[in-house]
Amino acid sequence: MYQKVDTNLNFVDREKQVEKFWKENHIFEKSMEDRKDDPTYMFYDGPPTANGKPHIGHVLTRVIKDMIPRYRTMKGYMVPRKAGWDTHGLPVELEVEKKLGLDGKEQIEEYGMEPFIQQCKESVWKYKGMWEDFSSTVGFWADMENPYVTYHDDYIESEWWALKEIWNKKLLYKGFKIVPYCPRCGTPLSAQEVSQGYKTVKERSAIVRFKVVGEDAYFLAWTTTPWTLPSNVALCVNPTEVYCKVKAADGYTYYMAEALLDKVLGKLGSEETPAYEVLEKYVGKDLEYKEYEPLFACAGEAAAKQKKKAHFVTADNYVTMSDGTGIVHIAPAFGEDDSRIGRNYELPFVQFVDGKGDLTAETPYAGKFVKDADPLVLKDLDAEGKLFDAPKFEHDYPFCWRCDTPLIYYARESWFIKMTAVKDDLVRNNKTINWIPASIGEGRFGNWLENIQDWGVSRNRYWGTPLNIWECECGCQHAIGSQAELKSMSPNYTDVVKKYAKEMDQEANGEVELHRPFIDDVTITCPKCGKQMHRVPEVIDCWFDSGSMPFAQHHYPFENKEIFEKQFPAQFISEAVDQTRGWFYSLLAISTLLFNKAPYENVIVLGLVQDENGQKMSKSKGNAVDPFDALQTYGADAIRWYFYTSSAPWLPSRFAGKTVVEGQRKFMGTLWNTYAFFVLYANIDNFDATKYSLEYDKLAVMDKWLLSRLESTVKAVDDNLANYRIPEAAKALQSFVDDMSNWYVRRSRERFWAKGMEQDKIN
Ligand code: ZN
Ligand code: ZN
Repeated sequence: MYQKVDTNLNFVDREKQVEKFWKENHIFEKSMEDRKDDPTYMFYDGPPTANGKPHIGHVLTRVIKDMIPRYRTMKGYMVPRKAGWDTHGLPVELEVEKKLGLDGKEQIEEYGMEPFIQQCKESVWKYKGMWEDFSSTVGFWADMENPYVTYHDDYIESEWWALKEIWNKKLLYKGFKIVPYCPRCGTPLSAQEVSQGYKTVKERSAIVRFKVVGEDAYFLAWTTTPWTLPSNVALCVNPTEVYCKVKAADGYTYYMAEALLDKVLGKLGSEETPAYEVLEKYVGKDLEYKEYEPLFACAGEAAAKQKKKAHFVTADNYVTMSDGTGIVHIAPAFGEDDSRIGRNYELPFVQFVDGKGDLTAETPYAGKFVKDADPLVLKDLDAEGKLFDAPKFEHDYPFCWRCDTPLIYYARESWFIKMTAVKDDLVRNNKTINWIPASIGEGRFGNWLENIQDWGVSRNRYWGTPLNIWECECGCQHAIGSQAELKSMSPNYTDVVKKYAKEMDQEANGEVELHRPFIDDVTITCPKCGKQMHRVPEVIDCWFDSGSMPFAQHHYPFENKEIFEKQFPAQFISEAVDQTRGWFYSLLAISTLLFNKAPYENVIVLGLVQDENGQKMSKSKGNAVDPFDALQTYGADAIRWYFYTSSAPWLPSRFAGKTVVEGQRKFMGTLWNTYAFFVLYANIDNFDATKYSLEYDKLAVMDKWLLSRLESTVKAVDDNLANYRIPEAAKALQSFVDDMSNWYVRRSRERFWAKGMEQDKIN
C-alpha cells in the first residue's frame, strides 16, 4: 500500500515535517559526506550582516544560491558551502552608539574603546538565531555550524597577509581623500549628516583670467569657491567638447568653451562691435598640458617645493557645459573631482586651509576663515586685472547640522590601494567571468572597471580590521603580515597581552587580540633607526573583509593551503545587483591584486524584489513584505517556485501573494493531485509498482509519448541548469506536469478505472 496522500493543499505543514526530518537525520551533512571523494564544484557564500534582520530579497538570494549547489550535488560533485558573517563596520558602531546613548567619536572615546568594541562584538550576533531559522525554513543548505566570521583574529590575520602582499607590491599608499568637513567641529560628516543641512545661498562666484605661458592670451575659468584659488594647481577642460580661441571686445584673447561664449562674453558686444571674434577652434583634448602662469605665487612655490609639474590644462569628462566657461579651476585638496584629477595627473597637493577652516600663512589671507576670505580674494584679483567677472550665484550648500557652520570639502589623509595600476588585469580577468546576464559584466561592471579609481581603504573608526601599518617618526613605514612577525618585532608584545588579560580578568592566551584598542598599544622596533614605531590609527573598509573570504575563510596561507588551492576560484556565486560595486568588485579586486585571477567563474546577478505595484519596498512606506509572514502563509516551496519562474532572476520581480498562490496551485497543486490520484487507485487495486518492470513493446502510444516527454524534460532541465538558466529549467518542468495531468491522465482515466489487472492497466 502507498501511504495515503492528503489531498488538501496545506504545503506549509508538510514542509515543516520535511525540515524536521532533514535536521534530525543530518541530511545536508550526509549529502556532503556522500560526495567527499568526488570532484569539487565550489560555491562562495557572500556574508550577510547578522545585526540586521533578513528581508524578502534575502529569500531570493538564498533560494538561487541553494538551487545551483543542489543541482551540482545531484550531478555528482562535492559542493563545499561554508556560510559566513560580515561583522565589522560603521552600521554596527552606529547601532551600539544608539543603544548606549552616545553621540560621536568624542563620546565613544570617553566611554572607552575597549568596552565599546566589546559591545560591537555582541551586537553583530543580535539576529543570528533569526537568520539561522530563516535559512532552515527557506531550505537553504550551507554549513552554518562552521561559518567564517570576519572579526575572528584568524580571519584578520589572513587579511593582514593580503595587505602586506599588496604593500610589498607598492600598491598601498597614503594619500588624501576629500570629505565633507565641519571646520568648527573639526570633524568630517557622513553623507547622511550632510544631507540634513542643505540651504540655498547666494554667493559671488569668480570668472578668472589665467595667463597662458608664451602667448598673449588667457584661459577663462570659473569657480564658486574663490577661497580655493590660492591653492590652484591646474585647469580642466572636457576632452570631447569644442573650445575656441577668441578675440573679445574687451581687448583680451581668451580660451573657453564654444557652447558658453555668448553667455559669458555676450555682454561685451554693442551695436557696432561684436562681442568676440573666433580665431581658432579645438576639441578639449588639444588643449591638454597647455601651461599657464600660477594665479598666486604661493601655489607656484609649493609646486616647486614638491618637485611636481603644475599649472597646466588637464582633461576630464566631469566638466560640463551647463555653467561657467567650460574650463574649471582645480585645487586637489578641496573637491572629489579635483582630487581624482590630481591623482591622475600627479599634481602637487596644496592645501592652504587649516583644520579650523582658516587660510594658512603661505597665502596673503593668513587666519581668515574661508568664507570671509572670498571677498578679499576677489578684490585682489580685480586689482591685478585677473578678474573677468564676479557674478552672483545661487546654489544649495551644506551646513553643519550641529553648529550651522558652512561645510567645506576638505582633504584628509587616507590610505589607498592603487587599483589604477592593475586596471588592465581587472579588465582581462573580468572577461573570464560568465556574467548572467552578460550585459552587467560588459556594461555596469565593465564600465566601472574602465573608469576604475584607487580604493580608499581606510576608515577613521574603531570596529574594523586594523590597518597593519606601523610608522616611525623617522619616516619609516612597515607592514606587519602576521602575529608571528608582530611578536618578533615588538619588545612590548607580551606586556600588552598580559595587561589586557588582567584588565579583562582572563588567562593570557599568548596572543594579542588584533582589534583596537589592544593592537594600538603594541609597538615595534624601527628597522632603520631603532626607535619605537606605532600603528596608524585607521581601520579598513569592511568591503576588504568580505572580498577576502576566498582565502581568509580558511586562514590561508597560515593553514589549509591545500583546501584553499582546491577551492579557488569558485565556480559559482550569486548576489543582488547592488553588489556590483560591492562584493562582486571587492572579490575581483583583491583576487586580481593577489593571484591575478578572477575569483569566480559564473555569477548570477539578482534583481531587486519590489512590491506588487513595482514600487521599492520600504519600512516607511509600509509596503515591505515580512519574509517570515510570507514563508508561514505560502510555504517555502511556493515562494521558491515563484522566484524561479516569475521572471529572469536579474530583472526586478513584483512580489504579490496572489501570484505566489497561483504558481503554487498550477504547479505544486497539479503535481500533488496527480500523485494523489495515482495513490488512490493503486491502493484500491492493491497495486505495487515495484513488482513490475517496464515492457516497452507492450505500451500504448500514449504511454510511449509520456515517457518520451519525460526524457525530453530531463534533458531540458539538465541543459538549462548546467548553463545557469533557472526560469527555463523551471518552465520545462511546469509544462511537463501540465501535459501529464491535463493531457495524459485525463485521456487515460478509463484505463485506470478498468476492471481487473490487465496489461494496459499495469502499463
Ligand atoms: Zn559643526
Ligand atoms: Zn625609525
